[in-house]
Amino acid sequence: MRTIVKGEVPRRNTVTTMSESTSYTKYVDLQGLDFDNRFTAQLTGDPRTDNNRRQVNRAYFSEVLPTGTFSPSTLAVSEEVFSLLGLEHELERSQEFAQIFSGNALTYDMEPHAMCYGGHQFGNWAGQLGDGRAINLGEVIGTDGNHYMLQLKGAGPTPYSRSGDGRAVLRSSIREFLCSEGMHHLGVPTTRALSLCGTGDHVVRDMFYDGNPVEEIGAVVCRVAPSFIRFGNFEIFASRGELEELKGLLDFTIRNYFPEIADPSPSAYIQLFEKVVASTATLVAHWQRVGFVHGVMNTDNMSIHGLTIDYGPYGWIDNFDPDWTPNTTDRLQRRYRFRNQPAVAHWNLAQLANALYPAINETEPLQEALDCFEELFIEEWTGMMAKKLGLRDFSDPESQVLLSNLFAILQSEEIDMTIFFRSLAKISAEHDPTNKVPLADIQLAYYTPDDVKEEHWARLDFWLRDYIAIVRASGIIDDERVAIMNQVNPKYVLRNYLAQLAIDDAEKGDFGMVYDLLEMLRNPYGEQPEFEKWATKRPEWARNRPGCSMLSCSS
Ligand code: AMP
Ligand code: MG
Repeated sequence: MRTIVKGEVPRRNTVTTMSESTSYTKYVDLQGLDFDNRFTAQLTGDPRTDNNRRQVNRAYFSEVLPTGTFSPSTLAVSEEVFSLLGLEHELERSQEFAQIFSGNALTYDMEPHAMCYGGHQFGNWAGQLGDGRAINLGEVIGTDGNHYMLQLKGAGPTPYSRSGDGRAVLRSSIREFLCSEGMHHLGVPTTRALSLCGTGDHVVRDMFYDGNPVEEIGAVVCRVAPSFIRFGNFEIFASRGELEELKGLLDFTIRNYFPEIADPSPSAYIQLFEKVVASTATLVAHWQRVGFVHGVMNTDNMSIHGLTIDYGPYGWIDNFDPDWTPNTTDRLQRRYRFRNQPAVAHWNLAQLANALYPAINETEPLQEALDCFEELFIEEWTGMMAKKLGLRDFSDPESQVLLSNLFAILQSEEIDMTIFFRSLAKISAEHDPTNKVPLADIQLAYYTPDDVKEEHWARLDFWLRDYIAIVRASGIIDDERVAIMNQVNPKYVLRNYLAQLAIDDAEKGDFGMVYDLLEMLRNPYGEQPEFEKWATKRPEWARNRPGCSMLSCSS
């Protein structure tokens, strides 16, 4: 392996300046990565290559170099993504890997750039946003033959950084690293994470925007996805009347990611929109299935591929509270609360339709495609809910009543969503209906079982009898039902408090729990006796602890 170092390593804790970030570039070889940079080759870049904050017109991206850091180190990697990208596993421990994926070096084939996009934030048009702290390194052909964009998050400022520093803190990087891999193993469409690297630099953050800034540890995550194109990439061109660029991005997207759609034309653009409507409906149905709350469903955080993207103040439902949001910035309006996610996705798709309109010039087909969202979502969601209950479908009125009664029960007490569904599989349909249904397993899902009134247990018993009757009528035997349920009802998820415990240790230099959680999340539907302790309810101390129940956008 060859390392060429040009220039100087920047000083510790310095504020990054333009001259520092552009005065040196290190190039190293990293065997295994096979680059094919389509985005930068096929689309026009910003003619300026400096990092000064600016409005970038008529360009898809700006060339930008990652800014070096004091002491790069590799903290964690995802083995699966390593293999997917064709990297040899011994590279994990190499200096070159740490250098590249902390933003301190490039390979010669990389074409680092930040993308230009806009977005609607909390319902309002926010103008140009862009990759303010994300830098795409280039596209690699994976071992599966697909292209994957590598992206560093937290590797320094770009023309889109506005007042931000272009950096990311360890706590939010651990959350993104673990959750994106966890979501993948849950079968939820998501961007992936190759690595979590330390920078050795500190980053100043005011976590709750309350005038208490502190120095935090910096980190960089390398994210991996077919592309990081968002709804906002189309919106920015439409908002500026840049029709040629809008069509250029549509054509690029279709040509490279949706080759099944015929030649670029207005009808192809409609087909693309239809596909995005469908993949977004599927995505949100998965979120509702596993109890995931994204927290910041702005249109700049919506992937054109229907992937979960931008893990910020996300959270997992512990007790089934549809009004819960982890994002403290949204605590009054609760726009992005659990129950609103399908409606917000629909609203976001409407913004995408508006953005595509100038390239199509007809509202009707866009409206028709948008109107399909609800039906597509309900179809996906009811299909998943049926599996969560081990049923074939909800076609008969009894099972529809069963479902609505279930939601009423889940909200009537503090009941852990994950444990409830997992325990339901343990209820045998062979149960003698003249006896009470044994509740012990399901009671493990209750946060305060001692405070629950007798009427509630009676109501639960009643519901379970109805459930058993419907299961029996469906003819599905217990073993088959358990198998179906345990494939969609995870036992292990990245509970908010678990991520926080791993962060607490990591901030002291101990990454053991990060590795253990990564291991646990690899097999969310199986039984893992060694991780049984993490398949339990949120402990009482975590109920109101920052990081566990409340998160901010500061990251
Ligand atoms: P988010 O809410 O994380 O999706 O970010 C919204 C916008 O703010 C995007 O354009 C980000 O690139 C930008 N941004 C967030 N944090 C930073 C930061 N520390 N430095 C620069 N830009 C940032
Ligand atoms: Mg974002």
